[in-house]
Amino acid sequence: MTATLTIDLPAIVANWRDLAARGAPGAVAGVVKADGYGLGAAEVGRALRAAGCRHFFVALLEEGIALRAAIGPGPMIGVLGGFAPGEDGDAALTPVLNALGDATAHAAAGRAAGGARRAILHVDTGMARLGLDGRDLARVSADPGLLAGLDLHYVMTHLACADEAAHPMNAAQAARFAAACAGLPKMRRSFANSSGMFLGADFASDLARPGCALYGINPTPDAPNPMRPVVRLEVPVLQLRQISPGTPVGYGAAWTAPRPTQVATVAAGYADGYLRSLSGRGVAEFRGRLVPLIGRVSMDLTTFDVTDCPEIVVGDRLTLIGGAGCQPDALAALSSTIGYEILTSLGARYARDYVRA
Ligand SMILES: *Cc1c(COP(=O)(O)O)cnc(C)c1O
Repeated sequence: MTATLTIDLPAIVANWRDLAARGAPGAVAGVVKADGYGLGAAEVGRALRAAGCRHFFVALLEEGIALRAAIGPGPMIGVLGGFAPGEDGDAALTPVLNALGDATAHAAAGRAAGGARRAILHVDTGMARLGLDGRDLARVSADPGLLAGLDLHYVMTHLACADEAAHPMNAAQAARFAAACAGLPKMRRSFANSSGMFLGADFASDLARPGCALYGINPTPDAPNPMRPVVRLEVPVLQLRQISPGTPVGYGAAWTAPRPTQVATVAAGYADGYLRSLSGRGVAEFRGRLVPLIGRVSMDLTTFDVTDCPEIVVGDRLTLIGGAGCQPDALAALSSTIGYEILTSLGARYARDYVRA
């Protein structure tokens, strides 16, 4: 009996509609990189497209080609990592140009084809990862002809600290973005990620790029989560046993029963993306009750203290992710990571059950 990962597509769509209302009058994209944050880019992409989403972002060329096959022609698919001219074949993807060299390569290909290549220009305002830097921007301002052959749909930048509303980087990046845009030909702008959409009018733009909030991660970590939960991982109990005080459980004998304890061993472990760093800290839910994770998370198995669930039987399911106390953000806090990593780690051994409208 396998575990079931339930993915609520109508909840993702409802989250997108909420964000789209918040992003108005600009458009709101769906970021579906990393296989839709682990939840299935094709399924998520089709659901969002049916809801009216016209702009998508992926990280890699291959993700873009697969997404185009899933959603069909029409919507823009921006590839954040960029690609060389022509590499997208007939998938009609939109490259994000992350350096002046990327821009000039696509511009030259556009001129050679006697037209203009659709692209998105990325300027760096504070991440120092990708995007045109100050020197690149100065060269473009001095010689806008460098961009001839490009049909620039947007200029974009990415916030480093949007999940910390009071962080001074936010205003600094907004100012740098405005200054960079002033030195470029007039074009539409794409600014906020999920958290950036909650920072106020200075962060509004023609195209917001939310990812995590679509999938139920809290974009406002200092306030209650305004998004709907999306994932639920239910894992069957393989065995129940009664142990007496002093009996150790699992690898390293890391946990020892302090009282007569009923142990439930369930069929999921770190090979399924249930993080080993949850060892001794995680919680699951059984019929509204929290059950503590005991001992270490193994590769395929995890143990929980179900002493307070006397009615539980083998084959019952514990909710490991998505129940009370074990939403992705809560598990992330318990294992010193972020909800994004809980989702993108989700393994391949679950039966995936997509809830449709
Ligand atoms: C991942 C990503 C996003 C989406 O970010 P969230 O925090 O998940 O909303 C937006 N823009 C860029 C450039 C990204 O890499």
